[in-house]
Amino acid sequence: MPEGLIVVSHPVLDDRLAVLRDVVTPHGAFRQALHEASAILAIEATRDLPTVERSIDTPLEEAGARRLEAPIIIVPVLRAGLGMVEGFLRLLADARVGHLGLQRDEDTLEPTGYFERLPPGMGEAYVFLLDPMLATGGSAVAALDRLKANGARRLRLICLVAAPEGVEAVRDAHPDVAIWTAALDRQLDDNGYIRPGLGDAGDRVFGTTG
Ligand code: URA
Repeated sequence: MPEGLIVVSHPVLDDRLAVLRDVVTPHGAFRQALHEASAILAIEATRDLPTVERSIDTPLEEAGARRLEAPIIIVPVLRAGLGMVEGFLRLLADARVGHLGLQRDEDTLEPTGYFERLPPGMGEAYVFLLDPMLATGGSAVAALDRLKANGARRLRLICLVAAPEGVEAVRDAHPDVAIWTAALDRQLDDNGYIRPGLGDAGDRVFGTTG
């Protein structure tokens, strides 16, 4: 397994991924399965976050407790990353949410930004970049560039399915950023789709084809 890549192993995640891969899954069920898979990825990708000791009052007495120490920011890459937001917010209700929109420039073929709205406090927060399909890695690398340019230092990339090519591209450009995924698939095809993959994640989340 490549360094810095965590392929999350969990039977419920495997089950959700099977639903997501299946071509007959309609967009409503796809969206629901993506929420559930994202919540499991959120649990795994926050496993080592620091906590601080706090004293709280239960209805009966004072008790020691632990709260998350640092703020959390999640940043979905438009459009498919939006499908992972709800799963993260179920667990991390206080997280701030930024948005990054990237599209491929028709001349240079490089990903360029068309939308960027990021919350304050990027430097102190744990920042989770959400993008379900890590294919060539081009948009993930560009998104991480933008987040770092805005001060982010504690970055994690969360995807659902990764291609080896995308993992390598992200690890080369951003070796400090670990990647969590539900699956490391075989390869990219000539059209840039991950095989076996699950098709176009944005279309399947939003029901824009079929
Ligand atoms: N983006 C997708 O939505 N699917 C792929 O297989 C590759 C990139």
